Amino acid sequence: MTFKASVLTLYPQMFPGSLGESLAGRALDRGDWSLETVQIREFATDKHRTVDDTPAGGGAGMVLRADVLAKAIDHASPAGDTRPRLLMSPRGKPLIQARVRELAGGEGIVLVCGRFEGVDQRVIDGRDLEEVSIGDYILSGGEVAATVVLDAIVRLLPGVMGNVQSGEFESFEQGLLEHPHYTRPAEWEGRRIPEVVTSGDHAKVARWQREQAELLTRQRRPDLLESKDEAD
Ligand code: SAH
Repeated sequence: MTFKASVLTLYPQMFPGSLGESLAGRALDRGDWSLETVQIREFATDKHRTVDDTPAGGGAGMVLRADVLAKAIDHASPAGDTRPRLLMSPRGKPLIQARVRELAGGEGIVLVCGRFEGVDQRVIDGRDLEEVSIGDYILSGGEVAATVVLDAIVRLLPGVMGNVQSGEFESFEQGLLEHPHYTRPAEWEGRRIPEVVTSGDHAKVARWQREQAELLTRQRRPDLLESKDEAD
């Protein structure tokens, strides 16, 4: 089954962008996933193809019109389409790996990229858009955020990542940050690979990696340990 992504944007030329390269790009070429872009402006009805207007009640900036965006959504995701519809939004629920995994297990995704000050609230309510944030900072538009969401999903699709194992032991997958990595040479600028890592004792290595992961998580992201305790 091909994972079907539809991206609604005022800048379709920003896609596939980085998703056309490397793992995601090869998977796209193979047809492991498909990417459709929908130009929101094509659904404007006036002769100037206007998609935005001034905010009701005053204030700075412009707002994406509900009527225009809804038409684009209805075109990309007509009734009966069961793919989740995500609106990229700094007000949304922060994206976490567990949600990425859930999305990757589905049949696809519809991603709406905001611009300006954001989109008219009525289209969020009227078209069941799930607001998703990629972090506590403001981007100039939703396109980069949509690229982030897709990149995280696509690498989890069946057959996309050569080494399946590397998907399971990564940061966040077990509620922990990942342990440090090393490769040859054994000594570089006077720094050696920790002895235990090259000891050949797999159980010992695994224990060390686990300890390092827990230590790093405690130091850098204690919040992850708290939510892990709740989940256990
Ligand atoms: N006025 C808004 C910000 C608008 S930024 C506010 O203060 O909340 C313009 C668009 O960029 C948004 O509509 C959204 O689609 C996208 N965007 C900005 N920051 C984002 C983030 N952290 N995560 C996801 N999308 C974001």
